Amino acid sequence: MNLDRPAVLGWLRERDAGRLETLWSLADRTRRRHVGDEIHLRGLLEISNHCRRSCLYCGLRAANTAVQRYRMDAQTIIAGARDAAERGYGTVVLQAGEDPGLEAGWIAGVVRAIRADTGLVVTLSLGERSREELALWRSAGAGRYLLRFETSDPRLYAHLHPAAPGGPRHRTELLPILRELGYEVGSGIMVGLPGQGIESVADDLLLFRELDLDMIGVGPFVPHPGTPLGALDAVAAEEQVEPDEETVMKVVALARLLRPDANIPATTAVATCWGPRGRERALLRGANVVMPDLTPPPYRAQYEIYPGKTCPPGLELTMTAIGRRPGIGPGGRRREEVPWSRP
Ligand code: SF4
Repeated sequence: MNLDRPAVLGWLRERDAGRLETLWSLADRTRRRHVGDEIHLRGLLEISNHCRRSCLYCGLRAANTAVQRYRMDAQTIIAGARDAAERGYGTVVLQAGEDPGLEAGWIAGVVRAIRADTGLVVTLSLGERSREELALWRSAGAGRYLLRFETSDPRLYAHLHPAAPGGPRHRTELLPILRELGYEVGSGIMVGLPGQGIESVADDLLLFRELDLDMIGVGPFVPHPGTPLGALDAVAAEEQVEPDEETVMKVVALARLLRPDANIPATTAVATCWGPRGRERALLRGANVVMPDLTPPPYRAQYEIYPGKTCPPGLELTMTAIGRRPGIGPGGRRREEVPWSRP
């Protein structure tokens, strides 16, 4: 489908339920044609909640001293990867705050051990790291990297996500480097950030296509009381985007139309806000991935990016009810042969 900016904006502003049914159905047909009926499951391990950054929206920000910090040891991480393999998942995702305590050589060793022990694809989501570190992890066997840019609007981004000294001004600068290193590249946005206008969300969507993203995550903004953006008197943009379900679903559906063969999760934030039915609706409006949280209980509750984060049960029932089935194998982007085996 040839979606230009006015068409994307038109859909984002659409309120008519009948016309929105057309959008949901277009997204679902596109999903089926390009990525099929399988729902790929990625086992998520939140390996550290330390973070040196202070993104205004995030409960793990360094300035939030109420967080009890943890860093999992290698054995616990590898046991979590085995758990994912035993459940039949093809991928394990190692996620953390931007934690310098996760030393690059140590992470490379963990990636190697998981690859040797389980054969799973390893996805990393460890924030902004140097080219050398990213290259090291790629050569250790990591196949994918997730780095959400959250908003492409440079002013809003700079406000929400103060740059690290010597780091990139915008996370999008790192995405081509990840691609060059041979990773499958994932990114995404938050919908309904204070100050986020509808035009900027249209630009985010078009950027998904321009960057040719392999994975796209979209979730609502959920205010965290321990952050500056948890305050209720935040400034609104002209045509402020709301973090409501309909708007988030429009962004998921449009992401599918703009990037037909990408892997698009029904995100944990969607499931947290709108429960199993919300997750089901996302899967019927373009999504084809779910990331069950396998982080062990002592740590899971401490990885509170936003309040109430939860992964509702009943996924098997949902899949059956909507005529879908669990994916077998790594579930990478289909246009590439086997990128995860080619460090
Ligand atoms: S969004 Fe990521 S980098 Fe920013 S404060 Fe949270 S964990 Fe740290």
